[in-house]
Amino acid sequence: MKELHSPVNRKTYYISMFMMITLMVAGLVLSTTELEAVTSSYVIHLLCVVIIPVCLIIYPRYETFAFRMSIILLGFVYFYTLALAYPQTWSTYIMICLLPALAILFYDFKLFYISLSLNVILLVIVTLYIHKQDTTYAYIHTDLVGNLINIVASQLLLFLIFYLTFDRIRKQELYLEQVQQSERLKMVAHLTAAVAHEIRNPVTVVRGFLQLYRENTDFNTSDRSKFALMIDELNTVEQVTSQFLSIAKPNRELLQVEKVDVREVLEGVASLLGSYATLSSKHIDIQAGEDCAILMNAIEFKQVVINLIKNALEASDTGAMVHVIARRVKKTVEIQIIDQGCGMTEEEVKALGTPFYSLKTNGTGLGLMICFNIVQKVGGSIKYLSEKGKGTTVILTFQAMDG
Ligand code: ADP
Ligand code: MG
Repeated sequence: MKELHSPVNRKTYYISMFMMITLMVAGLVLSTTELEAVTSSYVIHLLCVVIIPVCLIIYPRYETFAFRMSIILLGFVYFYTLALAYPQTWSTYIMICLLPALAILFYDFKLFYISLSLNVILLVIVTLYIHKQDTTYAYIHTDLVGNLINIVASQLLLFLIFYLTFDRIRKQELYLEQVQQSERLKMVAHLTAAVAHEIRNPVTVVRGFLQLYRENTDFNTSDRSKFALMIDELNTVEQVTSQFLSIAKPNRELLQVEKVDVREVLEGVASLLGSYATLSSKHIDIQAGEDCAILMNAIEFKQVVINLIKNALEASDTGAMVHVIARRVKKTVEIQIIDQGCGMTEEEVKALGTPFYSLKTNGTGLGLMICFNIVQKVGGSIKYLSEKGKGTTVILTFQAMDG
């Protein structure tokens, strides 16, 4: 219960606990004055009045499920003892009907369902037991069925209150999370835009010099072709930085779209990542149809597949194979990237694309955010099928281009 950590709430907690403890002590004093002989239920009552306050006072330091469960169980013992030991105080019955509400105070779903189920069973058993055993509980004897109906109704009501309230709280939490996520995304966008901008200037200068050298006949042909290669690579750097800038300010800098031959790009990427893969004895297998052409920016497409294949390789064990299959499915091109690596849980799959979400020690957690952004921009889709320990299949779908 994180809410307890702010000083104001801690104060409220201790004030309410103090009032509750005072009432418990008052109840004990009253039953002591009326006591004729020390009974076992009196001893349990006394012990509860000592143990429960101690637990409540130290609870903010040990907010664990086991501790919460213990407090609730002690609450059960305390109130059921009161109900059975002091039959003349019929209002204790109201208190035991409200017992599951203790879990609401702790904001714990699991605990609520456990205590609600336990309470329904105990309430019915205790009521039937009382009805059979003696006649001191006049109100139960007068109308057993009516009381049972009320008891069940009270538990149902508690369930409804809990369910609706928590549903609303959960929705609000989800909304808050989304707001925070979009704030984070905005921050990343600003940051990347700033970095991309800073990278562009030196790149332009270096490229300018390389262009001069490429024209310079003092260099031999082999050197000049290397300069041309460097210029090509710098063009890629510039395209990538432009793409980062386009995340920060979407649609402002539209990248040129063209017909992309998926097979060609995949084979290019495979040879690019080939040395990286063989370094750790991993392999990439490409199976691509000839009729797979799509309309988008080639560099962006390359960036997406590089990121996805790299993730698949990183998730795989040594000696494993990553399969990349591209095929035409009606009016779309489907690309599957399949690995038999570490896989992910449902929760982990849900978190994909969140900025900075990475389970790798040296990961950035930006790769998939960029991929999702690019795929979404061109109207494609990206789907993850994953099982922890078994592997992952990423399915990319793009609108196919004919002709
Ligand atoms: P990075 O690779 O820098 O960690 P990404 O955005 O590319 O960032 O990926 C985010 C996280 O998603 C990874 O750290 C990894 O835990 C998980 N992930 C992505 N692809 C796979 C995959 N094929 N198998 C298992 N986990 C994956
Ligand atoms: Mg990655």
